[in-house]
Amino acid sequence: MQNLKPAVFLDRDGTIIEEVNYLKNKEDLKLIQGVAESLKKLNKLNFLTILVTNQSGVARGYYDEKNVSIINNELNKILKKENAILDSIYYCPHHPKGTVEEYAKQCNCRKPATGMIDSAIKNFKNIDIKNSYVIGDKFIDVELAHNAGCKGILVKTGHGIEEIEKNKNKTADYIAQDITDAVNWIENNIKKYS
Ligand SMILES: [Mg+2]
Repeated sequence: MQNLKPAVFLDRDGTIIEEVNYLKNKEDLKLIQGVAESLKKLNKLNFLTILVTNQSGVARGYYDEKNVSIINNELNKILKKENAILDSIYYCPHHPKGTVEEYAKQCNCRKPATGMIDSAIKNFKNIDIKNSYVIGDKFIDVELAHNAGCKGILVKTGHGIEEIEKNKNKTADYIAQDITDAVNWIENNIKKYS
């Protein structure tokens, strides 16, 4: 049997890049402070780092899949320059109320559904899901974590603070100031149990 490897599934907008509401142009892409260092730390700790992002802007007709790829490629380029590695990127272009017919549907990949994580598990074949984490700025990211059987961390960047105020009854395995704090918590958490 292959050695299992845990993963950190990362939300994109508001978690690793600044939230600008339906990012379309790569000129508007800006990393949140500490992202490259945090990714490098996860790389070093032997986590797979996998981006999972809802991009309903495609279904809503705000931009197309090509725009999404351009942004994601640019993101990879910027990170590589800093020697930080994202092992893979998954996105969901759908929305049940979309205006672009081919994407307007109830899918199994829009977070908090687990389709993107399911695909990653299939593709990588060795993901240790029980020891994996999701980091995101919305409770759907935490719900995704729990639906997939891993731990969910909410960051206060992006929509984070607004989400906490709107959802007083909801909680996460950890509420972090930002990605740096989230990754430090993961590091401490694995030390505690190893
Ligand atoms: Mg987000």
